[in-house]
Amino acid sequence: WRSFLQKLDYKANLYNRTVISVNPKNTTQTCYACGFIMGINGTDKLNLKDREWTCPNCHEHHIRDWNAAKNILAKGLDKLEKLKNLAKAK
Ligand SMILES: [Zn+2]
Repeated sequence: WRSFLQKLDYKANLYNRTVISVNPKNTTQTCYACGFIMGINGTDKLNLKDREWTCPNCHEHHIRDWNAAKNILAKGLDKLEKLKNLAKAK
C-alpha cells in the first residue's frame, strides 16, 4: 500500500497534481446531502449488498459508491483547504 501511495505521489508531482489521503471512516455510511450517518438513531448500517439506498433523514436516493466518492472528495478538499491555511499562517 505504501509503495502504491509513493507511486501515486510521484505521478501527481509529475503532472503538477496533489494527492491527499483521507480517513475513510463513515464515507460509505454518511449521506452526502445531509450528513446523516447510517447506524445511528435505530437505523441499520449499510452492508456490502446495499448498492443503492435512500437516506432515512432527507430521503435523498444514493448510489452507494457515488455517495462515498462525494464524501471522500469533500474530505480531501476540506483537508487541502486546512493545509493551505496552515501554510499561509507560517
Ligand atoms: Zn440525508
